[in-house]
Amino acid sequence: MQYRTLGKTDLQVSVLSYGASPLGSVFRDVDESEGIRTVHTAVDLGINFIDVSPYYGLTKAEIVLGKALRTLPREKYYLATKVGRYGEDKFDFSAERVTRSVEESLQRLQVDYVDIIQCHDIEFDSLDKIVEEALPALRKLQEQGKARFIGITGLPLKIFRYVLERADADTILSYCHYSLNDTALEELIPFLQSKHMGIISASPLSMGLLTQRGAPDWHPAPAEVQAACARAADYCKEKGADISKLALQFAVAQPDIHTTLVGTASPQNIEKNVAWIDDPIDKTLLAEVRAILAPIHNQSWISGKPENN
Ligand code: NAD
Repeated sequence: MQYRTLGKTDLQVSVLSYGASPLGSVFRDVDESEGIRTVHTAVDLGINFIDVSPYYGLTKAEIVLGKALRTLPREKYYLATKVGRYGEDKFDFSAERVTRSVEESLQRLQVDYVDIIQCHDIEFDSLDKIVEEALPALRKLQEQGKARFIGITGLPLKIFRYVLERADADTILSYCHYSLNDTALEELIPFLQSKHMGIISASPLSMGLLTQRGAPDWHPAPAEVQAACARAADYCKEKGADISKLALQFAVAQPDIHTTLVGTASPQNIEKNVAWIDDPIDKTLLAEVRAILAPIHNQSWISGKPENN
């Protein structure tokens, strides 16, 4: 496993990191013991950064992750969770709620502090509220030792520039914008580097689009994006390859992205994912797959308030 310094934080994070949303049965029903074994396998294989949120499985992912972390030494992993999102349409970035939220997460996760606390999907609220209320509240929690660093997450890339031009944070988490079908995050990198931000990119498999199983029913990508990704997955299968392998190799090969969060609740998948990133990428297959995906490249979807897109 390789490690990179996460921007201005002093955290040395593994290039492939573990996203715990599947522990909340977000993609399929998950057996708790299998989920716990997946976390332990990830850490055994050198993954040292884990991301979760109270939103995933409406607290279930944090609870299952907490059970997994209980038997691991605290210095073995860096832990990130989030505040502000509590349901499909339930957001509250008030100082009072985010402060209480951190206490609740620490209890569920059974730890004394988290390494990063992030405002979750900020495009759903007023960005000025994030700047003026939520982030200052997180800085207070940082001063109290409940979190070591603070960050913001969301889908539309313009939210990061808006907030970071007005407030200070340590990390950003972008998702579905650095994978085989969408590399839009790359355009923002020079700006993020000028602010010395830790850059976390999530969903290298485009939340299931770049897998042989395909995307879950709730996947928000437009139909033509889903169809093109399914064609690309079938093409890889015909060639005796797995699109997930190509997708992971492609994602972690971008050196300016400090860490790439992949989600799974299967120990076998996490083993495969870690092994795959050490194999050389098949450049011919990569070119062929990118050609299949070219017509839908960087096509995303609206998330949150229209003005934040
Ligand atoms: P992902 O692209 O990592 O895809 C996850 C899906 O791929 C799951 O269905 C999983 O079972 C499957 N998968 C994983 N490894 C596989 C393999 N080897 N073979 C076949 N299928 C495999 O998407 P994700 O889980 O949404 O993203 C990763 C993490 O990033 C999340 O768990 C979460 O922690 C974080 N994230 C955060 C935000 C946010 O803050 N707004 C948004 C998206 C993701």
